[in-house]
Amino acid sequence: MYAQEALDRAADIDKKIKSGTAGKLAGMVVGLKDVLCYKDHPIQGGSKILDGFVSQFTATAVQRLLDEDAIIIGRQNCDEFAMGSSNENSAFGPALNPFDTTRVPGGSSGGSAVAVAADLCQVSLGSDTGGSVRQPAAFCGIIGLKPTYSRISRYGLIAYGSSFDCIGIFSKSVDDIALVLTVIAGSDEYDSTVSRTEAPEYTTSLFKEKKISVCYIRDTVESDALQPEIREAIQEAIEQLRALGHTIEAIDFPLLRYTLPTYYILATAEASSNLSRYDGVRYGHRSPETTDLESLYKKTRHEGFGKEVQRRILLGTFVLSSSYYDAYYTKAQKVRRIIRDKTKEILQRYDFMLMPTAPTTAFRLGEHTGNPLEMYLADIYSVQANVAGVPAISFPYGKDKKGLPIGIQALANDFEESKLLSLARLLTKK
Ligand code: GLN
Repeated sequence: MYAQEALDRAADIDKKIKSGTAGKLAGMVVGLKDVLCYKDHPIQGGSKILDGFVSQFTATAVQRLLDEDAIIIGRQNCDEFAMGSSNENSAFGPALNPFDTTRVPGGSSGGSAVAVAADLCQVSLGSDTGGSVRQPAAFCGIIGLKPTYSRISRYGLIAYGSSFDCIGIFSKSVDDIALVLTVIAGSDEYDSTVSRTEAPEYTTSLFKEKKISVCYIRDTVESDALQPEIREAIQEAIEQLRALGHTIEAIDFPLLRYTLPTYYILATAEASSNLSRYDGVRYGHRSPETTDLESLYKKTRHEGFGKEVQRRILLGTFVLSSSYYDAYYTKAQKVRRIIRDKTKEILQRYDFMLMPTAPTTAFRLGEHTGNPLEMYLADIYSVQANVAGVPAISFPYGKDKKGLPIGIQALANDFEESKLLSLARLLTKK
């Protein structure tokens, strides 16, 4: 369905270009992660439970792309309900890393990163709840931006952890990311959590003259868990900035060890609530073998959800249960606030916080599937931006010995996306 539609739209947009009426994104080819609604097109969030479901409406971000004459080329594979770091939790099987097809592309927005890396589209829209845009961007050698929480409407984005979920943008070009962000950011009457701070025309050309100040958390660079070539890459980036006359300082951030547990407690709690809507009554799959309402729920959810999603629902339900609510959920909320405050305080003192996007380059298919905790550790550096709500970008910075791309990440304060895009322009190294 997408192939013919894309050709028809292209022909229409050609006419508009000739008559001088084309939109800002005329002809830009865009792919959508399988969590973004596009009216009359199937959507499944990588899950069997949404088999046969067709979107009833179009997400605001997607509508804004269409209004500016982008061409939507298809929907892209991802981990089920965006839960995962390798794309291996998709009901469709994983997308493969274009640099080495025995390796994962990262996740959850794996298909979206691969499609851009393989030049199937210029831009993909993904979602980043704990790193799902930045980590696959790093594994596939492209740029991935997670904007400030609330910058882009979540209307029409399948919910995972609503207080973390952000639509993010993949491309090889920072200018295309800036343009797309300019088009899709900003307030929306369908999502009351969207910021009313006006969205500017995003730019990538700050810092031509200006000197910047950058910090990095000592532990993130010095940790033994970090692949040595990634450490060398970060050190080289630091030297490069120093040589350009910018200020770089190491800082301590003792809260780092709490960011991953905080994220996994809160994100699973929110997921257990958000995913309760898939009950076999309203959407997609319904088990044919049910005898009463309770068995309808149980069988449908048992058959429809994959193992990891079931694990997250159980974890989330556990931390929200009345006996454990205060010990886990309430406590994690408090810790989140402290992490957010401290992170923002640092980002007021420095323009950027620099860190690895992930502790390793792309790992092998199946390497971490037997051990969920190992898989969660792939997000150790990416979740801080989501816990704090601040924007972050991953950009390529060379390759490891195996020829796999290395990604470096920068965080900035709320609404400083132009700074991040400009830094990515300054530092990106293929
Ligand atoms: N890997 C993280 C998780 O599984 C982040 C996923 C995401 O950002 N959607 O929760």
